[in-house]
Amino acid sequence: MPYSSARSEFSGKANIFLDANENSFGSASGGKYNRYPDPLQTELKQRVSKLKRIPASNVFLGNGSDEAIDLVIRAFCNPGKDNIIIFPPTYGMYEVAANINNVEIREVLLNAEFQINVKETLNRIDAQTKLIFICSPNNPTGNLMQDSDIQILLDKFNGIIVLDEAYIDFAQRESWVSKLSQFPNLVILQTFSKAWGLAGLRIGMAFASEEIINILNKIKPPYNISEATQQLALSALQADEKVGGWIMAILAERILLINELSQFPFIERIYESDANFLLVKVMDANSLYAFLIQNGIAVRNRTNIILCENCLRITVGTQKENQLLTKTLKNYR
Ligand code: PMP
Repeated sequence: MPYSSARSEFSGKANIFLDANENSFGSASGGKYNRYPDPLQTELKQRVSKLKRIPASNVFLGNGSDEAIDLVIRAFCNPGKDNIIIFPPTYGMYEVAANINNVEIREVLLNAEFQINVKETLNRIDAQTKLIFICSPNNPTGNLMQDSDIQILLDKFNGIIVLDEAYIDFAQRESWVSKLSQFPNLVILQTFSKAWGLAGLRIGMAFASEEIINILNKIKPPYNISEATQQLALSALQADEKVGGWIMAILAERILLINELSQFPFIERIYESDANFLLVKVMDANSLYAFLIQNGIAVRNRTNIILCENCLRITVGTQKENQLLTKTLKNYR
């Protein structure tokens, strides 16, 4: 049985709330946060449902999409018995969440083009394989996975495909959300942390069949999205034209940054990106990383990640930040 919160236990309308042991006098912070938030984020989900053009019953909201990653593993995998498949190099949380939950991880490396090896994946699936995590656009490589490969896995795999679209707002191709109703075994993850600029709030989305959403709702912590977060996310959704503008600006800056970076002889390759970052292969990643840090610029050193030897992952910043990066790189070596 899931936890039943005080406010969901009556159906009438009340003016005086003496049911949840809150402080009826007010909030120490100012503002109105003395009441527990809506556990199912009804209003926010309705807005998300409009934006994504899917029913609200197909929407789950989590404390970042990281929470949804953990919850799908806990919902569908038996610890010590089941396994999941991931495609390294990819986002690290799938592995971390599986390990915490004592779920076996089967790794099928991406190929030289950073695409899924479908044949090998199908070979590695057994009766205990419950989830396959596909990250598209992939972190840290930045590329989209081929739709035809995703389609084959959706058709042939009996378990659940978790398609992580954290960076889809920056991609050339459309989200799979419009096809959600065709696939009862598909969970799509998106987030407010990237294009929406709300990484500090911690709010992520999962889209799936009503059946799957109901399971996630049953096992989540009852108040996983705070009142402040729900209110701020609602006001963000009213400013979505701002987000569209940022996406265009980031994509324009991505092109400029690629042009600038390609002049440096110590940058060997800039991988194609459908995200708000670039994976860049350099002559000596550790040395360049240390040089940038000495100059107050933090990038992500991915050199120890499989298939990413001597690679740095660089987020596309503002024009000023990118220009400073380029200027600093001129002093390297
Ligand atoms: N998926 C991918 C591919 C990511 O790169 C990230 C964040 N780095 C997340 C999910 C987690 O995002 P959130 O902030 O919503 O937890």
